[in-house]
Order: sequence, then C-alpha cells, then structure tokens
Amino acid sequence: GVGMVKADKKVDSVCPYCGIGCQLTYHVKDDKILMVTGRDGPANEERLCVKGRFGFDYARHPQRLTKPLIRRADAPKHKDFVVDPSNPLAAFREASWEEALALASGKLREIRDSKGPNALAGFGSAKGSNEEAYLFQKLVRTGFGTNNVDHCTRLCHASSVAALLEAVGSGAVSNPVRDVLHSEVIFLIGSNPLVNHPVGATWMKNAVKNGAKLIVCDPRRNDLQRYATHFLQFKPDTDVAMLNAMMHTIIEEGLVDEAFVNDRTSGFEELKKNVADFSPEKMAKICGIPAQTLREVARMFATSKASMILWGMGVSQHVHGTDNARCLISLVMMTGQIGRRGTGLHPLRGQNNVQGASDAGLIPMVFPDYQAVGNRTIRQKFEELWGTTLDPNPGLTVVEIMDAIHDGKLHGCYIMGENPAMSDPDVDHARDALAKLDWLVVQDIFLTETAYFADVVLPASAFPEKDGTFTNTDRQVQLGRAAINPPGDARQDLWIIQEMARGLGLDWNYSGPKDVFNEMRKAMHSIAGITWERLQAEHSVTYPCENEGDPGDEVVFIDKFPTPNGRAKLVPAKLITANEKPDTEFPMVLITGRQLEHWHTGSMTRRASVLDNIEPIATVTINPADMAALKVKAGDVITVESRRGKIALYARVDPNVPVGAVFIPFAYYEAAANMLTNPALDPFGKIPEFKYCAVRLKKGGTP
Ligand code: SF4
Repeated sequence: GVGMVKADKKVDSVCPYCGIGCQLTYHVKDDKILMVTGRDGPANEERLCVKGRFGFDYARHPQRLTKPLIRRADAPKHKDFVVDPSNPLAAFREASWEEALALASGKLREIRDSKGPNALAGFGSAKGSNEEAYLFQKLVRTGFGTNNVDHCTRLCHASSVAALLEAVGSGAVSNPVRDVLHSEVIFLIGSNPLVNHPVGATWMKNAVKNGAKLIVCDPRRNDLQRYATHFLQFKPDTDVAMLNAMMHTIIEEGLVDEAFVNDRTSGFEELKKNVADFSPEKMAKICGIPAQTLREVARMFATSKASMILWGMGVSQHVHGTDNARCLISLVMMTGQIGRRGTGLHPLRGQNNVQGASDAGLIPMVFPDYQAVGNRTIRQKFEELWGTTLDPNPGLTVVEIMDAIHDGKLHGCYIMGENPAMSDPDVDHARDALAKLDWLVVQDIFLTETAYFADVVLPASAFPEKDGTFTNTDRQVQLGRAAINPPGDARQDLWIIQEMARGLGLDWNYSGPKDVFNEMRKAMHSIAGITWERLQAEHSVTYPCENEGDPGDEVVFIDKFPTPNGRAKLVPAKLITANEKPDTEFPMVLITGRQLEHWHTGSMTRRASVLDNIEPIATVTINPADMAALKVKAGDVITVESRRGKIALYARVDPNVPVGAVFIPFAYYEAAANMLTNPALDPFGKIPEFKYCAVRLKKGGTP
C-alpha cells in the first residue's frame, strides 16, 4: 500500500546496518518512514540490500523505550533473570529525566570518588554517530578518569587492526570495496559478503562479469563461490598454514616483487626464513587444499596487474586472528600489490560505524585517531584540548572488563547502545558479571538483554531520529540526517551524554553534532580538513583529508606507509591452533555469524517486521551427512552444548557447512549462540575466538 500514500517529505541519509554505508532517502509521512530508496552514494550507486530497504519500522516498534526507568528496590539481578513477556518492564518504574539522570550519574560519581576511577568502565557503540562515540570516550576519560572504554570493535576486527597498526601504521582499509572493479584478482577470505555486506558483494559479482578472477577461501561455502575461479574450502583454523604455503610458493618460484620489498618493507628475511617450513606439499595435509591449487592461486595473486584482499571475521575471530591478518599483509607486501587502484588490504567492517567509533577513540589503549594513551606528548596534547589531566595507563577491553567485575575490581558501568549480554563470548559469564555490578546505567532504544541488568535505563534516539556523521568501511565520512522524532520522552544521545557528564562534574555546552565534530577535527588529523558544510553539500568525504579542500584519498600508501620509517613491517606467523579443539566429549566445531536479514544481536532487525517475517526463528545449520548420523531431519529440534552452556534450536540442512561443523547466528536471544562460545583471547588484538569452539549435538530439547 506504500505506493498509494504520498510522502510529505524526503530526507537524505545513510543505512544504519552494515559497514558498506549505502546512501539512501527516507520517504516520510506523519512522522513515520513510509519507504526507503537508494541514493547515488560512492559505496552503493542507488543499490540497497533487504536490510537497508526494509529494516526501518523498528523505530516505531511498540517496545521502544519512551520514559527513563529506575530499577525497583525489590527486583533481583541474576544472570538467569527471566523476563515476563506480558510485562517486560516489571523490574522497573518510570521516572522523570531529572530523577533518573541525578541517580545514574550520582552513583557513578560516588563509586569514582570512593573506589577510584578504575572501578568504572564505559561501553560505547559502533551503531552511534562519530560525535556520540567521541563524547562518550571523552566522558569516560575525563569524567570517570579512566581509559576503561571499549566497544564491539574488540569483538570483530581488533586483531586485524592490531596487525595493520603494527605493519602499516594505520588500521583502516587501503582501498574502497568498489576498487574490485579495477582488480584483476580478488582474494576473498573468511567473509560471506552476500550476507554481511550485500551491496559490497554486488560489486564483486560485477567485477567478475567484467573479467576479474575471484578466489574465495572459507571453511563454509557461500554462493559467491559460483563466481569464483577457485574456491578453497580449507579446514577451519588452518589459515596460517594455507597463507604461508602461498608465500612459500611465491618465494620459491621467484615471484617476489623485489623492488617493492627492498624499497618499502622491513623484516622480509625473517619472513622468508619462517615460510621456508611451509611448503604447499606439507601444508596440503593440514589445510586440506591440494598443493597444486595452493601454488596456482599464489601465482595468480602474485603475477596479476592488480590483486586485492578483502576479509571478514572468519579471519579475525580466532586466537590467531592477528597472525592470520599478518599473513594477508605479508602476502600483499611481498608481491607489491598495494598503493594502486584495485590492490591492497580491505578488512570488511561489520557495523555502520565501527570504523568511525574506533577512529573517535572508543578504544582503551588509544585516544582519537589511534594516538597511544601511554605517549606523553600525545597525552599532553589531549590534556590541553580537554583541560584536564589524563590516565597514562591503557584501559581494559570488553572481555577484560567482565573479568574485572568478577574479580571485584570494577563496580560501575555506563553502557550506551551496546548489548554485551548477547554479544560477548560465554554470555553466561558476561551476564553474571553484569548482575554483579553495583551500578549499571544503560542508554538504549529497547530494553535489551543488557538493560535487564540496569539500575537506570535512559531512553535514547534511533538512527533515523538524529543527525551525525558515520564512517563506512571505505573511510567515507557520511552524514546521517534526522527524518522522524524520538517517541515520548526519549531523547537525543548527545543530550543524554552531556547531561551524564554534567552529573560527573563536567561542564560541557556543545550546541549539537556540528559543534562536537569541529572539536574532533582539532583532535584528529585524519578528518581535520572535513567541514560540516562540505558534508552537507557532498554527503560523503573520504579521509585522510587533513586540510580543507583536500579531495580525500580513496587509495592510500601510494609511495609510503604512515610508520616511523615509512616502511611496512612484515611479521612472520607460526602455526597456532584453536584454543579448544574438538575431542571425544565435544566432537563438533561451532562457527557463529550472521544471517542476511538479521544484524548483530537482533535488537533492531528482529523488531523490523519484514526482516523478522523472513527469518523468525533461531536455527542451527548442519551438513546433511551429520544430520543423517544424528538421525534428525530439517525442522527437528537439536540441543547444542559446549563446556559453557547449551541451547536448543531447529535444525536447518545446508551442504555448505562442512562435515563436523555447525553454524549458528548470534541474533536470537531465545537461543543465544554466545552461551556456547569460547572467551579465549588473541594475545595481540584481545579478540575472542567466536569462530571456533567444541560442541556436541543431541536430538531433542525445548527451543
Ligand atoms: Fe545497508 Fe549494508 Fe545493505 Fe547497504 S549493504 S543497504 S549498508 S545493510
């Protein structure tokens, strides 16, 4: 019926879901979004996927929080806390903003003053704007006085960023996704863009139609394989073996770009020594890919005019995630496949603003623009800008914060738009930590699984209700614009953060997102040249853009790397196996991830009617051979159990899942996949091993 109703206004904005950052237009009538159409943005050229087109009515869902909530004195906090669906707000009473804010910030202040700044922590959000992320980390650093501030980048690409910062001095992509149109060889590993970056996947298909060769590497087959010249279904957990074997081939067959290695890199000799042990013939048994194929793809990659690597969480979410990324970086460097159109390194960012939230400093070790908190000169610069003294010690990461709560060292948290009770590994442990907190303030649009544990809940604004900038996976800073009003007493997040800051003794008076953005430009070289007016006129500006008028560089590292000596550092990787291997007790491997229709912990998409109608129930996807062995058929209930928990879900058959593994999306609260996952961390990126843990299956159970 949408076609019959005429919109009374159109508002240009961007998509709130994945990191591709498609530009779109809302068609609005009577303060409601009637429909959404694609706009001619640099990342999407009018294309949208099902989420961007149909995923907006969550903003008008009856479960939106419209009043501040305060926990009732008699409402217990317990990790197994069961919500009464007929009265989900039972544990809370409604309050005025005045009362809620005074209580929320007052208790945090009390903890800070009695137990010290490090007894507090804040989780920001990759779903908020750059301005919200910046103000939130500034509040934690200057109001709490600690660097205990993190967000879910820790759970997606922290290892990729650790490897990239170490090697090239910058954590962002070298080339935009659409550069695949200039590639001769596209090397895609540990990523299923058809589901997670759908419009990005369309560019890859277009590139193949134009003659590019696509190599897909993944333990789980996806439909892009139909477009690939080579599909390497390697055994889960063996990335380093496979990639080192490719590098071994390139060296052995004389395909190294010697000039590039000599002029632009350091550490090649050690890398060479390391990969000498990894012949394709030896590695074939480990990774399950024939030596001949490994040699073939290595040759293709090395000798093409332009080869580009794109990767996802299949690479990063391992205890050897940083090593996996180091191998990808070395592969590109030894072949000189960087610094030109159609080449380079692209870690596909998951959330619409995970790049921007990281840039803005929602990271415990660094200030905005990845400037180390431990560096005195840098710290002094921020002390001057923010007019206060700052903690010189790096803070705790997401998983470390949960451990610190269990250890009785951390007592109060402020969580904005993040849902660790669903997204953390081993969520039972995380929920237990949240329940143990003396004081928890949650700012969100719904009563999320995390908000169930809150002492005060502050009702915030949804994406289409606010103005702000968002940075996509291509480093494009884009303007999101308000199209509708927040419901009831829900308020703008920027206003809420400022009021919380006031309660902590800070006196901020930002007039709006533009005012915050202008302060960010002073703190961050990367965006110093981007003006708000230019964003309004052009909708999107790529950084680095250091001076006003700079065009913004889509391709970086053309003649040097932003490292102290201008060279890329190659770091060899040894073979490390998963933290928890299958055994006789838990013989299968669990792989977690997303579905096309659902995004992250599902708090938005499961309340978007079209998306939820397409994918309404939690399922576990299994290879037909394993189903037969278990004597179950599609639609039967299966209980999946790990050493940390168990969940029951409906079986779905899929030959794309390898024998011996199961796949479970983590968007379903009623069968939270992260009850099962392993919190073991990669030592460099501190990212948990979401992509691999041991489980066992049993027929039956209650979903
Ligand atoms: Fe939104 Fe990503 Fe889909 Fe584009 S591809 S419409 S940014 S979810």
